[in-house]
Amino acid sequence: MAKRYLIAGNWKMNKTSGEAKALVEGIVAAVGKQTSVDVAVCPTFTSLETASKALAGSSVKLGAQNMYPKPSGAYTGEISADMLLDFGCTYVVLGHSERREYFKETDEFINEKVKSALSAGMKPILCVGETLEQREGGSTIDVVSKQVLGGLKDVPASQAENVVVAYEPVWAIGTGKTATPAMAQEVHAEIRKNLVSLFEEAGNNIQILYGGSMKPENAEALLKEKDIDGGLIGGASLKADSFASLVNTAISLSK
Ligand code: PEP
Repeated sequence: MAKRYLIAGNWKMNKTSGEAKALVEGIVAAVGKQTSVDVAVCPTFTSLETASKALAGSSVKLGAQNMYPKPSGAYTGEISADMLLDFGCTYVVLGHSERREYFKETDEFINEKVKSALSAGMKPILCVGETLEQREGGSTIDVVSKQVLGGLKDVPASQAENVVVAYEPVWAIGTGKTATPAMAQEVHAEIRKNLVSLFEEAGNNIQILYGGSMKPENAEALLKEKDIDGGLIGGASLKADSFASLVNTAISLSK
């Protein structure tokens, strides 16, 4: 099966809802009609409703950056999968390295969220990746495999088609340093093996995104690699022209 790219923007804690509206409008104007590449934007919770309205009628999907695994109840400050669905979210970013680092999220907790998102009918984007210390210590593959297998534990093969994995080397996020295409492909190939070990043939169709300072200048070389099926984009997703340029690169590689 030919690969289908996903370009997803992780806006992190940026943009008021007015700014989010303007950014979504710019993205929709540039790439809101094409259907050969999957595209998503993931604003903050407070901008989801505005973004959802601005995306209406376009091919760009909405995603959230986090959620809590329980369906409802006494969890002050948290947001459930159903609440995200209510705003029309298709995707939810889970286990981002910033959440693992600053909010001490574990593979077990992330796995609960992944299963909750899938049960609700959303597509989790499970983020995995090693720190610089782990890379230099030679444990990249062990670390990433543990995060993939832990994050997807007990996910049935029937739900594999809704899973997305993002390989984001922590040392490349927001630093301007990018993994070389060969470095990224090496890890993506190992992730692919993990996915096939979990889901057999269905694992071959799961989109594995690269994230970590992907930008218009380096996207083509990364996206050409066999097991790189798209990008999770931080900094370069905050401007409509750079984000649209990444989408256009994926479109031209899809032809
Ligand atoms: C991210 O945080 O998901 C990310 C990839 O950020 P950046 O593109 O800014 O490195």
